[in-house]
Amino acid sequence: MKLYNSLTRTRDDFVTHVPGKVTMYTCGPTVYHFAHIGNLRSYIMEDVLEKYLVYAGYDVTRTMNITDVGHLTSDGDTGDDKMIKSAQREHKSVMEIAQFYTDAFFSDCEKLNIKKPEYVVPATGCIDEFIEMVDRLIKNGYAYEAGGNVYFDTSKLKEYYVFNKHDADDLEEGVREGVGVDNNKRTKTDFVLWFTKSKFEDQELKWDSPWGYGYPGWHIECSAISVKTLGEYLDIHCGGIDNAFPHHTNEIAQSEAYLGHPWCKHWFHVLHLNTASGKMSKSSGKALTLSLLEENGYDPLVYRFFCLQSHYRKNLVFSWEGLDNAVKSYNKLVARIAALKPEGDADNADFEKVREGFVTAMDNDLNTSLAITAIYDALKANVSDATKLALIKDYEKVLSLGLIEAAEKQKVNAQKQSEAAVVPVTEEDKEIVDLVNQRTEAKKAKNYALADSIRDKLKEMGVVVEDTAQGPKWKRI
Ligand code: AMP
Ligand code: ZN
Repeated sequence: MKLYNSLTRTRDDFVTHVPGKVTMYTCGPTVYHFAHIGNLRSYIMEDVLEKYLVYAGYDVTRTMNITDVGHLTSDGDTGDDKMIKSAQREHKSVMEIAQFYTDAFFSDCEKLNIKKPEYVVPATGCIDEFIEMVDRLIKNGYAYEAGGNVYFDTSKLKEYYVFNKHDADDLEEGVREGVGVDNNKRTKTDFVLWFTKSKFEDQELKWDSPWGYGYPGWHIECSAISVKTLGEYLDIHCGGIDNAFPHHTNEIAQSEAYLGHPWCKHWFHVLHLNTASGKMSKSSGKALTLSLLEENGYDPLVYRFFCLQSHYRKNLVFSWEGLDNAVKSYNKLVARIAALKPEGDADNADFEKVREGFVTAMDNDLNTSLAITAIYDALKANVSDATKLALIKDYEKVLSLGLIEAAEKQKVNAQKQSEAAVVPVTEEDKEIVDLVNQRTEAKKAKNYALADSIRDKLKEMGVVVEDTAQGPKWKRI
């Protein structure tokens, strides 16, 4: 399997530390607001990645953190704490806010068929691990105390900018957020591991530490939670592209300085979902959420389909028209699956031959749009309906678009409708239904002369019969 690796900037063969096993880490949500559908794009694509690795035979263990402390409005060390701002806005405690939005996040995930990782770890549950990590970094000479805070010393690294070749002078710290430069930092790129001298006097959550009463920086949580749950060697780390710098860059700096060896082999970054007018924001209050899509009548799985139609390494522009087109394609696909008449078992040789198209698409840097094309190819293939259905069920282990369930529902609804259409009410209705059934039997027996004469008789009674995919339907004229 070839997968683009942000670290090497090439499509690498996917290789793990222990053959057959994958340790996978995902930066979880900052739970200060509902996730917007851009955030959810990242989690959908990461879910597809995890399921494809399992499909390919790997034993995958995955961890996701929940950021409930330390993430400031800037991804650096400036701005306000997002959780505190939200608690103040909603007149709730930080922990109430965290619980509410964590539950809302997982409810969205469930609707989108996103599997919950084996380990889901709130940052506030790992304070001892953060302190232990910061302590070792100080002892190893990679961190220093200044002005009450503890900072990571980026000058100690051979290479800090692992993903992009930034020019350090471009990093005009503070300017972006309209707040002052932190003069405690020895180097501009240094970042906070532990805050004690907080500019937030109202910080609700604080813990004792060797450096004073305070709270952790955002980046340290992912390094510590990953090492705690997945061990010293990580195979793949995921997140949206905005996390690459500074968050993931700082995670690598801390983890490798702490462990004393290379840490994560593969970095998987999902590009952003934007609107035509630009960036999506979860704090603006006007954010596009999954609930908003549902309120407007869209099935969450159609949004998943919309996302899978494009490659994870391309920016995707959201529009209602685009979503309407996805609805049309999704419904057509479901109707074609519902129309299959599987009889007997799938043919193994046919199955393997057609399945190659799907595997080739997914092995090629997780090409989900070609994987969807592979569903159409399976439907068009010169194989039995039983084989077609088996193929689509197989692809669905990874794509999780709910196609089989939607097709079943459609069949049941159609059946109910056709039954409702022939429920005899009056004596005359009963006679009509009887004749319609006789005609169906005659057609089955290929006695077309009889079938036609029954149709004529019905016509004389003022009734027309129409043959539909769901069986014959009659109505008075
Ligand atoms: P946050 O809750 O802000 O920590 O973000 C949760 C995840 O969503 C992170 O992996 C971000 O990189 C990702 N993300 C943020 N904005 C977008 C977007 N517009 N499109 C795709 N992913 C995003
Ligand atoms: Zn993270």
